[in-house]
Amino acid sequence: MPKQLPETVDFLKQAERNVRLEGVWPLAGLERLSEVLGDNSGELYAKVSFSSGAGYLCMQGSIDAVLVLNCQRCLEPMQHEVSERFKFGLITNEDEADELPTDTEPYLVEGEEQSLIDVLEDELLLSIPIAAMHQEECSEYLRQLNEKRRVEREKSNPFAVLKDLKLD
Ligand SMILES: [Zn+2]
Repeated sequence: MPKQLPETVDFLKQAERNVRLEGVWPLAGLERLSEVLGDNSGELYAKVSFSSGAGYLCMQGSIDAVLVLNCQRCLEPMQHEVSERFKFGLITNEDEADELPTDTEPYLVEGEEQSLIDVLEDELLLSIPIAAMHQEECSEYLRQLNEKRRVEREKSNPFAVLKDLKLD
């Protein structure tokens, strides 16, 4: 079983040492995320590699999770699969942000240790669509609306009329 990630680490020190981390974290342990989930059982899985080789200190990785959201249409639970990549350039003052490559987001390092879990929680929150909805017609209202549209489309289609004539 994969082990649990550390909640906080010294990002800069990890980058200088080119540390790689891999592990899980329970979704129930993420307070902000739990507020928007229909069910916060389960866990996230992440790989994070800190590096110093690119001319700046870097933290990048991937995060995978299956979130249970409430569908905004029928209010029933739905699964939202997350598989995201992220890349941050670690900076200690705002000016250093200008020196980062364009595909690298700046992360301003403050204090002794930084929360790895906060970074991962932010990634999950960003992955959630504004209006999460089932792909299929999940409410009776929507099913009826689509049925009505289909009937109207057939009515306005001249070929459908011909078809009716032939049947006579
Ligand atoms: Zn739905």
